[in-house]
Amino acid sequence: MNLPRIDIDLGKIAHNVQQLKTLYGSNGINIIGVTKVIGGDPIIANVLVKNGIEILADSRISNIVKMRKAGIRAQYLLLRTPALSQVEEVVIHSHMSLNSELAVLKKLSEYAIRNHMIHKVILMVELGDLREGIMPSEMNAYVEEVLDLDGLALIGIGTNLACFGGISPDVDKMNELSSIAIRLEEKFKISLTIVSGGNSANYNWFTSSKNVGRINSLRLGESIFLGREALCRKPIQGLFIDIFTLVTEVIEAKRKPSQPYGEVYQNANGDIPRFKSNDLMDRAVLAIGMQDVMVSGMTPKQKITVLGASSDHMLIDNTKTNLRVGDTVAFDLNYSALLRVFNTLYIAKNTINQYECESIL
Ligand SMILES: *Cc1c(COP(=O)(O)O)cnc(C)c1O
Repeated sequence: MNLPRIDIDLGKIAHNVQQLKTLYGSNGINIIGVTKVIGGDPIIANVLVKNGIEILADSRISNIVKMRKAGIRAQYLLLRTPALSQVEEVVIHSHMSLNSELAVLKKLSEYAIRNHMIHKVILMVELGDLREGIMPSEMNAYVEEVLDLDGLALIGIGTNLACFGGISPDVDKMNELSSIAIRLEEKFKISLTIVSGGNSANYNWFTSSKNVGRINSLRLGESIFLGREALCRKPIQGLFIDIFTLVTEVIEAKRKPSQPYGEVYQNANGDIPRFKSNDLMDRAVLAIGMQDVMVSGMTPKQKITVLGASSDHMLIDNTKTNLRVGDTVAFDLNYSALLRVFNTLYIAKNTINQYECESIL
């Protein structure tokens, strides 16, 4: 297998999906599988679906198209509020979308009618994180409009926290969403099938709440793929946190000074670097860089200090490891690093543990 490569443990993904389904299912919450961090990879999406995930959600329509073309059978939800310029594709390729703009909803309705389709709509409520969402005071007006638009079916409401503002989806926020749902149902004599409380950051709220109110859905990416909640990034008990491993190769290993010499100007990142010591040190260069991955989101599995990186090279302190040219170095990845790895052409994808995965199915 070419290097660099990412090892993907499908059996561990299956395990995490089953555990999370059982955990959240125990209090009536259904899980929507969020595929954006794995770039809509069909092999991985298939593991989700085969383990009982019925709705797959992605922020990019092209990822949804990729999964559907690969024959992954699910209901598809577009996570990012559709752009006006892509509304027709959204109607054709996704069954439902999260929405917060009337102009977009009107266009969705127009194209749904034109294509003889019903597009399902979840209205997003702003609860303080200040990314997407309709202000609670405007919800009535939006619902009234959507109910009047042919070609659209209002199936639910949702909110998204802990993304821009880092606002916690706590009991107060979730109670607020529940009351909005109840109020809308009573006022408009409708029934909302989905009340989607948030993402992987909702774990603490869920585990500390006996009563989840009207919340019956969460959209999970990070918990499935990295086994963590997303408020403090703590591992969730019983889940694997080592599903993905990035493997890179040493292309130079030499003893050199630890301090660059000559006149100092900006480096590849536009920084003026400073170094403490001037001793000789064992250094190694790895064939990976900023074109491939977000270097600050990589944690070496061995005791290695990362010195820095440019577009295509990563420099490490090789004093304790004594790596040679051709040796490999493995890294764990955080969410941002993983996101980038699945969006580069330069890293080979290597699925492992297929057998265990298939035996589970
Ligand atoms: C990315 C995203 C999610 C998933 O978030 P995780 O923290 O990975 O679980 C959920 N909802 C929306 C709207 C998103 O954009």
